[in-house]
This record gives sequence, C-alpha cells and structure tokens, in this order.
Amino acid sequence: MASETRRHRGHNDEDPPAGGDPYTEYDDFDLPAYVGRTSFQKLPELSDDAALRARHPDVAIVGAPLDEGVSHRPGARFGPRAIRAATYHAGSLNSLQLGIQPFEWLDVVDAGDAPIIPASLERGHAVIRRKVLEVARSGAIPIVLGGDHSITFPSASAVAEVVAPRGLGIVHFDAHADTANSSWGVLASHGTPMRRLIDSGAVAGRNFVQVGLRGYWPPPETLEWMRQHELRVHFMTEIEERGAEAVVADAIAEALDGPELIYLSVDIDVLDPGMAPGTGTPEPGGMLTRELLRAIRQIVGAVELAGMDVVEVAPAYDVSEITAAAAHRCVMEAISALAARRRDRGGTPRPSGRTRDGSDPDEASPAAG
Ligand code: MN
Ligand code: MN
Repeated sequence: MASETRRHRGHNDEDPPAGGDPYTEYDDFDLPAYVGRTSFQKLPELSDDAALRARHPDVAIVGAPLDEGVSHRPGARFGPRAIRAATYHAGSLNSLQLGIQPFEWLDVVDAGDAPIIPASLERGHAVIRRKVLEVARSGAIPIVLGGDHSITFPSASAVAEVVAPRGLGIVHFDAHADTANSSWGVLASHGTPMRRLIDSGAVAGRNFVQVGLRGYWPPPETLEWMRQHELRVHFMTEIEERGAEAVVADAIAEALDGPELIYLSVDIDVLDPGMAPGTGTPEPGGMLTRELLRAIRQIVGAVELAGMDVVEVAPAYDVSEITAAAAHRCVMEAISALAARRRDRGGTPRPSGRTRDGSDPDEASPAAG
C-alpha cells in the first residue's frame, strides 16, 4: 500500500518535510476533516465480521440509521452520517479535558452501519441486534449512533447477551422515560424500548437509571409501572437542585448495585433544545452540553463500559450542526475516558491503525518499534 510508506504524523501542527511530494506527503488520517474518507474521525473502516474478530479492536462505532419508531418529527435515520461528519479535527486528537490522545491508547474502528432498509421496524431491529452482537463478540465496545431511541432495545439486548452471566446496568440520559407499554399499539416504538429491555430480562428494573426526565410525559400509570419495577429516576429538577455531578454519582452506584458493567444510552434530547434543536421531540429545560459531556467522562471513567448509544439526532431540524457536534463529542468524551482509564490502570497503548486498514494496529505502535 502506498499509504504505508507515507510518514504518519498523528497531528498537523508540524511543517511537512522539505522536498516532499505534495500528492502523497499526508496520509488520509492526517488530511483535514473535510477531505477523504467519511468514517468516524477517519478511523479504519472494518464492517466485516471476520475482520473484526481478527483485529479485535477496543472500540467500534456502529451506525443504526433507523427512524421508523418515532412518534413525532422523523429524520434520525440521517443521524449517523451527521454525527460522523460533525468534526473539524483530523489526526490524533488530544483531549484537553483528560490530558490524553485517545487514539494513541485505544484501537478504535468504524464498523459501518447495520444494513437497514426503509419501512420495516422489525427487520431494522433484527439487523441492528446482529451487528451489535458481531461487534461485542469481537471484544470491542460498541458505540452505536442512532437512529431513534427504539434501537436501544436491540443494541442493549445484544450487549447484555454477550456480557452474560455478568450483569448489566443501564444509565439512560433522556428528557423522556421511554417506558410506555406501546405507542398507539406499537410495541417497538421509540417510546417503549426501556420497558422491552426490562420485560425481556436483559436488565433488572432496579439497575435501570434514568437522568434528565422532564416535561409532560409519561402519564401516572406508566410512572407507577416504573415504581413497581424499581427503576431509579432522576428528574431534571433534581439536577437543578443538587447539580449534575452528585446526581450522576448516585446513578452510577444504582446501576452497579449488583451488575458489574454499564450500558450508557444518551438521547440527545436530554440537552436543552437551545443547545440541541436537531431532534424529533425537543423538550425545553434540559441539561447543558458541558454538563452532559462532564457526566459522560464521570461515568466512563468510573465504571466498566460494555456499550453505548447516542440517539435521536435529526439533522434536518439542526442549526449549524450544533446537535450533531454535541453527539459527536459525547462519543469522543467516552472514547477519551476509556483511554484515560486504560492509562490510569497501568495498561499499555494500542493505537488505532489509521491508514493501515485490516493490518495489525500494533505494527503502528511506537512501543512496538
Ligand atoms: Mn429517548
Ligand atoms: Mn427523548
């Protein structure tokens, strides 16, 4: 491969070597974000199950471009592409929040999208479940880009199946509980995935922790079902009164009251619509973007993360890509916190393969010479 002969810089703050060929002096990973491939952060694309198993990356991005489950404004099927594109950074990013270059510590790949077709919610959930199963069985932590929130049922179910018999707790950021029994009789809508997860036994109600709920839904009968099943619920008013950090600390303890691992589900509408207008059911009075990003660092830094999703980004209603950028940074904060956790626990770097798709990422490691 010609690209393997190019000097990989990892960041673009240095002058290129004198006398270089301008056609080949930068590899794709180091070229600007708007140039070249469109995978998440231009990471290696690895959609094939066998290739994933052979490589066993630390983290794999998965697209779940399905929005057949929405109850109001459609458009989250375009979320994965918008989130992947919502970056102006290229090369090996440096987290100022955590003091780490995450792609120097973790092998992160983009496993592509589940093979969705329109107008079939059932088929869509089946292929998402299978895609997330493949990723999780390869040993990678799946980070799933929605899609509407109905995708959390197949995604978290798949993760629960792979980590069993170790138990899974769920921390769920959302303006909405998503615990209806049905939406107009439809069991698999984006208003019902959390009840399906509890009813199916994928996660115990008492380890299902919701943060940021507000507004005018669900009705008392649904709240009563949540009480009966011992869900732990932290309304937005509690964040206003106690602060997000204290509430999130409780959420971590509640989710891990029994289970060993956490699945993190982030509905972008947990943010205030002033900071995340590009979503299907915006509810005023939400979290600040900086609060949510800090909460993700807090959680991922403290627990063993088994999987994650970021859902409900509907780019057609977005303004200047602010919602997509917030979702993209939710993913980056999680990846950075995973990297910092590896470093702080005495782990060794395992850099992303960058330009060397399919090859052993350790070949690119400075430690490996
Ligand atoms: Mn939701
Ligand atoms: Mn919501």
